[in-house]
Formats: sequence, C-alpha cells, structure tokens
Amino acid sequence: MELLKQRIRQDGTVKGNDVLKVDSFLNHQIDVALLGEIGKEFRRRFADCGVNKILTIEASGIGIACITAQSFHCPVLFAKKSQTKNIAGEVYTTKVESFTHGKVYDVIVSRKFLGPDDTVLIIDDFLANGAALEGLIDLVNQAGARLAGAGIVIEKAFQPGGGRLRAKGVRVESLARVKSMSEETGVAFVD
Ligand code: 5GP
Repeated sequence: MELLKQRIRQDGTVKGNDVLKVDSFLNHQIDVALLGEIGKEFRRRFADCGVNKILTIEASGIGIACITAQSFHCPVLFAKKSQTKNIAGEVYTTKVESFTHGKVYDVIVSRKFLGPDDTVLIIDDFLANGAALEGLIDLVNQAGARLAGAGIVIEKAFQPGGGRLRAKGVRVESLARVKSMSEETGVAFVD
C-alpha cells in the first residue's frame, strides 16, 4: 500500500536495530484518514472470505481493527492481557511473549464472543517474531472458529514470524514490509 509505505519512509524512526517507531501516525497519535485507507485495503484483500468477526489484541490493534470492521460490517473482539485469575471455563486463554517488553503474559477472550460459527480475520499493527499472531490463532482454534487470515499493517520481513506462519499455511497479508533498518542511519527500507 503505497500511501502507507511513503508515510513510514517519511515519519518512521528506528530504535535499536529492530524496533520501528510510528508514534506520529499509528501507535500514539493516530492518522484516522490513513487508518480509513488501511481498513479499505484489508477489506479489498479479504472480501468474499465470509469474515464475520475481527480479532485483535489490546492495545494498539484496536483502532485499526475498528476501522477495518466498518468495511466488513462486523464486530471487533480484542484479546485482553490479563493479570487476574479467570474462572475456568469462561474464557479461552493463551500465553504471548511481548516483543516490545519481553514479558510473557496471559491473553484471554470470553467464550461468549468466539465460537464454531465464526469466520475470523485477525488484525494487528506489527508482525515481528509472530508470538502475538500465534497466540491469537491459538484462541481461534480453541474456539473451533475458522481463520480467514491475518491482516498486518507493518511486517518486519527480516524477523521470522511472517515466514513461519505462511509455512504453516496461514494467509498473512501485510500492507508494508520492512526489509531492513538501521539505528545508525535511521533508515528503514520498506517495500
Ligand atoms: P511479535 O509478537 O510478532 O513478535 O510482535 C508483534 C507485536 O509486538 C505487535 O502487536 C506490536 O505491538 C509489537 N511490535 C513488534 N515489533 C514492533 C515494532 O518494531 N514497533 C512497534 N511499535 N511495535 C512492535
């Protein structure tokens, strides 16, 4: 998606050698017009897949998922990062290692909102090592729902998540792929 790629080249900044900061338009301040175009692009790519639910993970996936859901006319379900013990049987639960914080935390969704009648599109802002996506796919599988695929705004293609998930047969569509980046030069190569 050319508009997004240009925006990353213009406003993205590099932190360390593997974190891309897009705080000015996606992760802190949000460019809602750009998000609208992102939502339409996901709709174009996953039209006719029978999607009736969009699943994401809090927090930064929620805004993107909501705008995308307007094009699909379906609800958004966001997996919660849980610190409390949940009553067995009420929720599906899985563990996810956070890329940005390095911590492993429990992630839950209520059984009330995901089940065998659902066809799910997973949406997230970034794909790096694939832990977030794998956790969400685990929740979809536990619920007996069908997975249409995953829509990712920015895939860091030099990290292994995308390759591993595609090798498992998951349809992963990313709108911009960062091939490499360097803190020294501050440059992210995007295609
Ligand atoms: P993964 O689980 O694929 O390793 O990482 C994906 C999650 O980590 C995303 O939900 C995103 O919030 C966060 N993340 C991974 N890489 C980056 C990055 O370069 N920049 C930002 N802002 N978030 C990232």
